[in-house]
Amino acid sequence: MSCGTGPLVDAFNRRITYLRLSVTDRCDLRCAYCMPEKMQFLPRKEVLSLEELHKLGLAMIARGITKIRLTGGEPLVRRDVIELVRALGRKLGDGLEELTLTTNGTQLAQHAEDLAEAGVKRVNVSLDTLDAQLFQRLSRRDRLAEVLEGIAAAKEAGLKVKLNTVALKGLNEGEIPDLIAWAHRHGHEITLIEVMPLGEVEEDRVDHYLPLIAVREDLEQRWTLRPSDARSGGPARYVDVAETGGRLGFITPLTNNFCAGCNRIRVTATGQLFACLGGAEQVDLRAALRSTDPDTRLAEALDEAMRIKPEKHHFQIDRRGAEPAQPRHMSMTGG
Ligand code: SAM
Ligand code: SF4
Repeated sequence: MSCGTGPLVDAFNRRITYLRLSVTDRCDLRCAYCMPEKMQFLPRKEVLSLEELHKLGLAMIARGITKIRLTGGEPLVRRDVIELVRALGRKLGDGLEELTLTTNGTQLAQHAEDLAEAGVKRVNVSLDTLDAQLFQRLSRRDRLAEVLEGIAAAKEAGLKVKLNTVALKGLNEGEIPDLIAWAHRHGHEITLIEVMPLGEVEEDRVDHYLPLIAVREDLEQRWTLRPSDARSGGPARYVDVAETGGRLGFITPLTNNFCAGCNRIRVTATGQLFACLGGAEQVDLRAALRSTDPDTRLAEALDEAMRIKPEKHHFQIDRRGAEPAQPRHMSMTGG
């Protein structure tokens, strides 16, 4: 186990090297599976300041975090986010190996060059459909054109783009092969994700839950999928699609438990460290940061996080009307 200053190792001997840091809970879309239309956002004073986020990032790097992914909410709606990227980018090659972000892409066109200049090499962009009407139905906003511009701008700026697509029964289900072919034609990897029961939304997610085992079987009728050894250090499992020449990932939190290799922790925009996406175990880093002895309190809080990180999550989405596994939305914990 880690202690005070050493690397972060949890009670199951997993070395934690990957931080997903949410910089805001706000968003300019309202994806129906992610949040309600009338989502209540946090008062700004609750959210960590730029300086606090930076200090937290440095403390994590000092404890052996080598990869930081900024997320949200939508990270690019936070006005000073590029300053944070620049500040953390200075640690690249000095403890930090990778700085990246997950974005919905609506504002990527404005920021792609700045991100690349700050040392970002890859971005994940969420894209559930290429159909403008379905995009509006899914995200409750008419912004597909900006997202596609953002993806093109990122590529132009030299960033590698990985697309993330939530597979949704009866919604984008029929379009999945076209999305994969489109991604590969443009030189992007794409990963499919199962919808997870996080936070109350208007719809019952079980209605749109699409197990990826079924999607994969369907794709195998059409294409040759060759299992790939590629690993992102995360839960995705990859195949290479012979016919398109591109890579396809599957993240199956509900059908396939991937917790044994977990190397990550998540911090919300208010500085709550969640030891597991699907669990309630948390420590309050904001209280530590705002205390009179932030360095000691942060070190203690990180040690506590390693003690309480659970062995695995307990998601279930097979019951209609079931409570979400966790009351907090994905936009809160960061995807
Ligand atoms: N706004 C950014 C975006 O959409 O990429 C970053 C945050 S978003 C919460 C991160 C990822 O979580 C997105 O790819 C989104 O599709 C996914 N997501 C949100 N709610 C989800 C849920 N209930 N189940 C599965 N994935 C979800
Ligand atoms: Fe916003 Fe991302 Fe959630 Fe969609 S998935 S509402 S873009 S935070």
